[in-house]
Amino acid sequence: MCITIRFIAAAIAAMAAASVQSQPLELPKLGYAYNALEPYIDAQTMEIHYSRHHQGYVSNLNKAIAGTTAEKLSLEDLLLTSGRRGDAVRNNAGGHYNHTLFWEILSATPAQTPSAALQQAIIRQYGTLDSLKNALNQAAASRFGSGWAWLIVTVDKKLQVCSTPNQDNPIMDVSKERGIPILGIDVWEHAYYLKYQNKRSDYLAAIWNVLDWAAVSRKYDVALNDPLLKRIEKDTWQALKDFHVVMAQTFHPMEDGNLKPIRERAGEMKLKAELLKVSPIPASFNTAEIRKAIDDLIKGSAALEKSVRKKAKDDTIKSQLTALHDTFHVIQGLCSH
Ligand code: MN
Repeated sequence: MCITIRFIAAAIAAMAAASVQSQPLELPKLGYAYNALEPYIDAQTMEIHYSRHHQGYVSNLNKAIAGTTAEKLSLEDLLLTSGRRGDAVRNNAGGHYNHTLFWEILSATPAQTPSAALQQAIIRQYGTLDSLKNALNQAAASRFGSGWAWLIVTVDKKLQVCSTPNQDNPIMDVSKERGIPILGIDVWEHAYYLKYQNKRSDYLAAIWNVLDWAAVSRKYDVALNDPLLKRIEKDTWQALKDFHVVMAQTFHPMEDGNLKPIRERAGEMKLKAELLKVSPIPASFNTAEIRKAIDDLIKGSAALEKSVRKKAKDDTIKSQLTALHDTFHVIQGLCSH
């Protein structure tokens, strides 16, 4: 009996542990055979690229996040915060995301033309499909060393061609150009060396034969309405991020009864609020409500700074900082709508 109960208890504990544990990331199924893209991409390159390189990124990412707080984050979250997660997460999360996209936009039976909506956007910005291809080839050919060329949807829902080094991509906070990729060209030598050796331009000329514009068009439609686009836009609001850092580093210690940080940094907080007011607000967050909340932030942080200067009692500082924290979350909340 006792043993049975102990066994059941152990089983329940194991189940509970399993339920809080995130699933490890997995290599996605390849939608075609290794030789399907011949003669443009040879079977051996495909097999090594998919089953060793991509598998390597997945395995190394799982290893890098195992047992850390990053384990519970989505791949998107890992990319958005890659700048502060160290090289193993940055390189392998990028490698996993980038290759997943790459396999999806290649096909043995590719659609030759984009959807009407994507076609229109291409004509508006690049004139013709060929000039867009030239811009992408140019970005891919001029990437020194390893990296990717991208067609992305930017936060203002325009198309943009850009390129990133290594396994970075434009979702990442570390990328200069930001947006959601809808087409990516892998220009690591592992993507073409066996067949094309050092002739990257021959590989770039060939790849359009297996580039599926139907898949790219679907990604375009999804990207236009993807909430990720707004998260990227918010992430480019540096002044808000700067204010957030000071708020987090003073408010949370205060919650634990430590008022030293806020007594030392109230002046800095006031300055960050003023910088928020004078720095540009990203277009879709520039509303009357948010502008008013920023004004409230300035008033609140000025009042708090004054209290700290006059050596006010802990209770006064606590209630003022709590109110300021609420105001900050009004902005954060309005941004998420
Ligand atoms: Mn690759």
